[in-house]
Amino acid sequence: MTRDDYEVIIGLEVHSELSTKTKIFCSCPTTFGASPNTQVCPICMAMPGTLPVLNEKVVEYAVKAGLATNCTISKDSKNDRKNYFYPDLPKAYQISQYDKPLCEKGYIEIDTESGKKKIRITRIHIEEDAGKLNHDDFGGGSLVDLNRAGVPLIEIVSEPDLRSSQEVESYLKKLKAILEYIEVSDCKMQEGSFRADVNVSVRKKGDEKLGTRTEMKNMNSFRSITRAIEYEVDRQIELLEEGKEVEQETLRWDDVSGKTFSMRDKEDAQDYRYFPDPDLAAIKLSDEYIENIRKNLPELPESRKQRYLDQYKLSEKDANIITASKYLSDLFENAIKVCNNPKAVSNWIISDISRILNETEMDPIEIPFDAKQLGKLIVLIDKGTISSSIGKKVLEELFEEPRDPEDIIKEKGWIQISDESAIKEIVTKILEANPQSVADYKAGKDKALGFLVGQAMKETKGKANPKMLNEMFLKELNG
Ligand code: ADP
Ligand code: MG
Ligand code: ZN
Repeated sequence: MTRDDYEVIIGLEVHSELSTKTKIFCSCPTTFGASPNTQVCPICMAMPGTLPVLNEKVVEYAVKAGLATNCTISKDSKNDRKNYFYPDLPKAYQISQYDKPLCEKGYIEIDTESGKKKIRITRIHIEEDAGKLNHDDFGGGSLVDLNRAGVPLIEIVSEPDLRSSQEVESYLKKLKAILEYIEVSDCKMQEGSFRADVNVSVRKKGDEKLGTRTEMKNMNSFRSITRAIEYEVDRQIELLEEGKEVEQETLRWDDVSGKTFSMRDKEDAQDYRYFPDPDLAAIKLSDEYIENIRKNLPELPESRKQRYLDQYKLSEKDANIITASKYLSDLFENAIKVCNNPKAVSNWIISDISRILNETEMDPIEIPFDAKQLGKLIVLIDKGTISSSIGKKVLEELFEEPRDPEDIIKEKGWIQISDESAIKEIVTKILEANPQSVADYKAGKDKALGFLVGQAMKETKGKANPKMLNEMFLKELNG
């Protein structure tokens, strides 16, 4: 049998850090990147005798996420203790939710090669993040930083409905976009505020029963997730083809070797000895509370995309790219307010900005310049103050050191030459220096014109107005 005889089954558990100002059970701040152990208190350090108090914002954000993903919101929910020992979890249990999650039975729609597909969401529950171990330098030991302990998370568990790494990427991008739009998480993958546990199994096509799965934890890059799934699928099929069995276990993906390694046997729910946290009251929500959140949900990616198709006549593909990120989409709309040229803004985002984001593996939220600066760049091109090739250089400057595009071009001397006599002077000079091209053009080789314009551009370091150059060359050559 070959790989084509197998079906790939994937289910995801996504952890997303909520962007509340304070932690889930205490009032410590949640700012990322602070010095180790500066955002801690007796509660999140797990001192005996302290009592947690649930941050109401966490419930609100989780309900928002549930409504935006078509879940049923539970009016009667609670927190449970999930017991396990780990050095970055001094309580030796994590406060999570077991049998009564806040949200259940939702779905999101993704785009696949064969059209739209619904991916079911089993549940969304709230829980606390653990601290972080820093394994380095310091005499070979490990140091614990508890700043992250108690940062609120939602865990979004999908049904095993995904069938390929492409579907996984599409699902994660959609989910990330939704969470960004409803502003419950900044979803910065590099900072770990959007990370996925990837469960993979294979089965022979036509089989009803799911195969044994393995789980790769805490993955936070699309590229690694895709590579890890491809590797794991091959590994599992190979085992089955050799008549062996896949073992249910937790794996670690190593990006350098491009392989998965066994971390530990998979534990079952019963191993955690879940029980209701006696320190916390049950979470009771009224219909009114839920409806109020539903009423105030902001525009979601799908409807924004439709609006772009109708209002700005963007292509489906372009609208997809822009609305996949709230930050790109906000950049798009706000730049239009400045330059009133939707087509140009969309082109800049789809081509040059996306290229730079890709090359630098930057998340759109990290774009250093603002919409006003992008809008102004386009105004300068539209007015003819700079050419679009200079525009590309200005964009690079905006990524390097964002400032007013007008200041950039003044400082760099990039203002376009649009003065008729100056253009004529350049054209005359280039014609004199290239008699062969002139002869070629007159002999009917139109290509020679392009060469001459190119020479003039080179001479002026891209600053000559290309339209005026073209016209002037034609006039001189034909006249
Ligand atoms: P946990 O991993 O915490 O024990 P579950 O057993 O509920 O939780 O499963 C977690 C995830 O694994 C879910 O997203 C689910 O869709 C996925 N999953 C379950 N069984 C399989 C399977 N056979 N193949 C792939 N994914 C699976
Ligand atoms: Mg799991
Ligand atoms: Zn605290």
